[in-house]
Amino acid sequence: MGSNLKEKPVIDLLSKDSELVWHPFTPLIGSEENLVVTGAKGAKLYTADGHEIIDAIASWWVNLHGHANPHIAQAIAKQALNLEHVMFAGFTHEPAIQLAENLLSVLPENQGKVFFSDNGSTAVEVALKMALQYWHNQGEDRNTIVALDGAYHGDTFGAMAVGERGAFTEPFWPYLFEVDFIDLPLSVPEEQVLAKFEDLLNQGRVAAFIFEPIVQGAAGMRKYSAIWLDRMISLARSYKVLCIADEVMTAFGRTGRLFACDYLQEKPDIFCLSKGITGGALPLGATTCTNEVQQAYHHQDIYKTFFHGHSYTANPIACAAANASFELLMSEKCQQDIARITNSFAAFKQRIDSHEKVKSCMHMGAILSIEISSYEDTSYVNEARHKLYPFFLSKGVLLRPLGNIIYIIPPYVISDEELQQVYQAIEDFLESTL
Ligand SMILES: *Cc1c(COP(=O)(O)O)cnc(C)c1O
Repeated sequence: MGSNLKEKPVIDLLSKDSELVWHPFTPLIGSEENLVVTGAKGAKLYTADGHEIIDAIASWWVNLHGHANPHIAQAIAKQALNLEHVMFAGFTHEPAIQLAENLLSVLPENQGKVFFSDNGSTAVEVALKMALQYWHNQGEDRNTIVALDGAYHGDTFGAMAVGERGAFTEPFWPYLFEVDFIDLPLSVPEEQVLAKFEDLLNQGRVAAFIFEPIVQGAAGMRKYSAIWLDRMISLARSYKVLCIADEVMTAFGRTGRLFACDYLQEKPDIFCLSKGITGGALPLGATTCTNEVQQAYHHQDIYKTFFHGHSYTANPIACAAANASFELLMSEKCQQDIARITNSFAAFKQRIDSHEKVKSCMHMGAILSIEISSYEDTSYVNEARHKLYPFFLSKGVLLRPLGNIIYIIPPYVISDEELQQVYQAIEDFLESTL
C-alpha cells in the first residue's frame, strides 16, 4: 500500500516529463528514463523511488559546498525577502558590489572590473565582445580570435565558434565565425605550436586568445603544460593580444588553487567565471577585466559604450548566494576539504594507475580523470557512456563519463566514506567484463 502511494505520482510525473519537457544533451527517444530527484543534502541526491545517489560530478561541475547548503540557503532566503531583483542599468545594490569586491580580492592583481551575466556561455560571450570592441574603440582592425584545439566554451553562438568543431555543433558550422585553432602541446611539440602561434600573431589581426587554463573540462579533463601556457600568454602579450582565461570549470579551488591561473606566472587580461560561483545554487556569470581593457571604454563618445546586458544581470539573490559561497570557500574547513580530496585522489590514482583497463589517469587538485582503454572511440557519443553511466548509477554513484573518460569532480563536502564508495564503483567497473 505504502509503496503504491509513493510510486504512482512518480509514474505520473515521468509521463508528463517525457510529454512536456525537453532535457539538455538528451535524445528525445531511446535515452534512459530521467530520475526524479525530490531532495539533496551534502554530496547526496535523493530520488523519488527511495534511492540515494552520490553526486560525484557536482551536478555538472557547479556544486562546491554540498547540496541544500544551509549557509547559502539562508543567504538566498534573506535576500529574496529584501530585494529579489532590480534592473542593473542605472541601479546597483550591495550584494553585487560585495561580490565584485570578493572576486577582485582573490583574482590576480591586474583585474579591476567585474561585468555580470547569467551563466558560463554568456560570461564567454561578454569576454569575446569586450575584447573585440576593445580594438574597435581604438580604431584598430583586429578581428581574429585564437582558441585551443578541443576547447569547450559553451553553447551560445560565440561560445560555440571558439569551441572545437565537433559533431554537436555541426548543424551550426556555417554560422560560426572563423577562429584559428592551435594544437595543444600534447601530440605536437611545444616549439612547433609556439611557432604557429607566432606566425598568426605576426599577421597583426589577432584580437584575443581564449583558453581553458591548464585543464580542458569537456575535452575529457585534459591537462596540458602550465609552462607552455605561460609562454603562449607571454607571446600574445608581446603582440598586445588580449588573453581570456575561461575559468568557468577550473575556478574556485577545483585545481587545488583558487584559480588555475594561480599556477601561471603570466596573468590573463580577462577572466570568465560561472558554475561554482554561487556554490552551485543559482545561475550567475561574471567576466572580469583589467583596468587597461576598461580604459578603451572610457569615452565621451556614446558609441564606445559596451552595449551588452541581460535582464537578470547581477541578480541580487544569485549575488547573495555567491557571497555566501565565497565565505565558505575561504574558510579553513573548505581549504582542508580540498587538500583532503587532493590527497585521497593521489592515493586512488596510485591504486588504479597500472590496471590494464586504465590507459591514463590525470589528477590535479580536486579533479581526477581516468581514460579507459577498452573503448577506443573518445567521442562523447561512444558506447562507453551508455554502459558506464547506468552501471555507476546502479551502484548509487553519479558519474557521467565523457566518451571513454570517467572523471570525478565532487562537492568539497564529500566524506571519505562517500569517496571510497565512488572508488569502489570504479574498481567494480575495472574488474567487470563491461
Ligand atoms: C560549462 C562551461 C562553459 C559553459 O557554461 P554554461 O553555464 O553551461 O553556459 C563555458 N566554459 C567552460 C570551460 C565550461 O566548462
